[in-house]
Amino acid sequence: MKRWKRTAIFLAALMILSSLTVYAPAELAGEEGGEGEVLVLEHTEEEILPALELKPAEPFNPDPETEPELPEEPEERTVFDMDNRVTVKNTGEYPYSAIAYMVVKGKCGCGWTGSGFMVDRNKLLTAAHCLVCSKHSECAKSITFYFGFRNKNSYRYKYNGKWTAYAGNLFRDRKYTVDWDYGCVKLYKNVGDKVGWLGSYWGMSDSQIANQFLYVAGYRDGVLKYDYGFADAKSSQHIKYRMDTQPGNSGGPVFTRDYYAIGINIAENDSYNTGYRLTTTVKGDLDGL
Ligand SMILES: [Zn+2]
Repeated sequence: MKRWKRTAIFLAALMILSSLTVYAPAELAGEEGGEGEVLVLEHTEEEILPALELKPAEPFNPDPETEPELPEEPEERTVFDMDNRVTVKNTGEYPYSAIAYMVVKGKCGCGWTGSGFMVDRNKLLTAAHCLVCSKHSECAKSITFYFGFRNKNSYRYKYNGKWTAYAGNLFRDRKYTVDWDYGCVKLYKNVGDKVGWLGSYWGMSDSQIANQFLYVAGYRDGVLKYDYGFADAKSSQHIKYRMDTQPGNSGGPVFTRDYYAIGINIAENDSYNTGYRLTTTVKGDLDGL
């Protein structure tokens, strides 16, 4: 998209004031997944790690002979009000294979679904509200992670073993805000060796973000879709973009053309969608698992 047009759209977006709404995870009469525990963390401000810790982690494609397919940057993007999302057919191929369709059961008895993505052999990022019931603020009790999902009988890999998670405390006072809406999950198996993982670029600056051509992807009702475009920094914790997303995409990756995640898709409103930046705090929590 041409720069002037981006600027015009950005200004238009600024003029529209509407409150953010969390993606209500799609409800599902869930199966019994692997059990685990979510620990809700009480960060109050970004904790900056030494620069040494900020080296990007490289992506891994378990099928290096298959060339990953992503669309080229188009000359122009059409209006945002249209649904530009593309349905992924080859969900089992990298980089899509590294994105999980999560079927979750909460301690409260609710069931919901969300998305997540591998960023290492045994670690996955998602939204905190994919790990905590948005109605009752109760944590997830069991999760099944499907990779390369087509349907319950057709997928590349299914993990329903043990897991442990950290979630930012997004439900302080039992009221959702986008603050701290990220989750880090450790799987007790090297699932990434089978499905791959995205690289992770930690602490990207505002100007670096604005110069990236990006993709956002996630599952909704078991269907994986993506869109592409540009993003801007919104705060030290958030980015915003006009790439199309949908409820259930929560927890999906915002990533670059060379498969480095820079954000986690978390919320939407009428004028833009919001992602959680891969901040040094998120990295510290991921490393601490
Ligand atoms: Zn609940």
